[in-house]
Amino acid sequence: MSKLDRIRHFLNENKAGLAIVSDPVTVNYLTGFDCDPHDRQMFLFVYENREPALFVPALEVARASTVLDFPVFGYVDSENPWQKIKAGLASTDSPIIYAEFDNLNVTKFQGLQTVFEGRFENLTPFIQKMRVIKSADEIQKMIVAGDYADKAVNIGFDNISLDVTETDIIAQIEFGMKKIGINQMSFETMVLTGNNAANPHGIPGTNRIENDSLLLFDLGVVSQGYVSDMTRTVAVGQPDQFKKDIYNICLEAQLTALDFIKPGVTASEVDAAARNVIEKAGYGEYFNHRLGHGLGMDVHEFPSIMEGNDLVIEEGMCFSVEPGIYIPEKVGVRIEDCGYVTKDGFEVFTHTPKELLYFDV
Ligand code: MN
Ligand code: MN
Repeated sequence: MSKLDRIRHFLNENKAGLAIVSDPVTVNYLTGFDCDPHDRQMFLFVYENREPALFVPALEVARASTVLDFPVFGYVDSENPWQKIKAGLASTDSPIIYAEFDNLNVTKFQGLQTVFEGRFENLTPFIQKMRVIKSADEIQKMIVAGDYADKAVNIGFDNISLDVTETDIIAQIEFGMKKIGINQMSFETMVLTGNNAANPHGIPGTNRIENDSLLLFDLGVVSQGYVSDMTRTVAVGQPDQFKKDIYNICLEAQLTALDFIKPGVTASEVDAAARNVIEKAGYGEYFNHRLGHGLGMDVHEFPSIMEGNDLVIEEGMCFSVEPGIYIPEKVGVRIEDCGYVTKDGFEVFTHTPKELLYFDV
């Protein structure tokens, strides 16, 4: 069954005539049309019993029409998009309309309400359920994205020097990626030196790389519409024993969780596998975020690998395993790999070594 057929089947089961997809990533996932409309309007209308239609800004109509085998219509900036939708769509009297509540903002919602009279229900949980299990083709694309992340972090390693700043290294990484054809990173590349790494969402800046300290890299690339996400923390010079101990506790936590993952365990149990190691070592309070997040076409998607999530892990799910220990003003470590659940375990997308790597500067 095609992805659009699965939406139609869902609508039929729920006695609804129409689903309205507003998240550009979902549009791409369902149709293969990749477009960011920015502040303009784009909607995919999927009918239960009629061919779908895509509404886009006028400047995207030609490109969309070459990708899609169903009607595309648009509006220019000076037109009212809601009136254009109303005029361009066959009317629907569906009493129930599914829309992506996690994406729809108030402006879009109110605009759509001027066009459709039915009651709005939430499509997001069904989309999450579709996207959470990756096909072999999707996993193949994520393996490629993972390979690029390994290349990117190694460019970072090659540029470690006391003469440069965090943003200098980021510039080298992203320049190197562009040179081999990657046009987008998954998120703002992070290179954090010394105490700046002790902040789980530290902001890179003009800090010079510190000696006898830890240096954290968190990065990923977008390749064929799929993302990678990895973190490595390495030693510059000779960090003191305390920093090395913290590193090794974090590593043990990560390896324990990776080893634990297989179909049938819950997301909460996976989180606990790593968290128990850090708690037993006495640093539980410094691991102050969930263990991981799903990823695929988005860098953060369903499911959350966290305490209290009873979701049962299934073959084909893809998520990150990223324990961290952040002790303010002292040390910050995070180790992250993303991977996919196999029939009896978990395979990671990134393979850069994880024993503490030393860089003499
Ligand atoms: Mn992550
Ligand atoms: Mn990350």
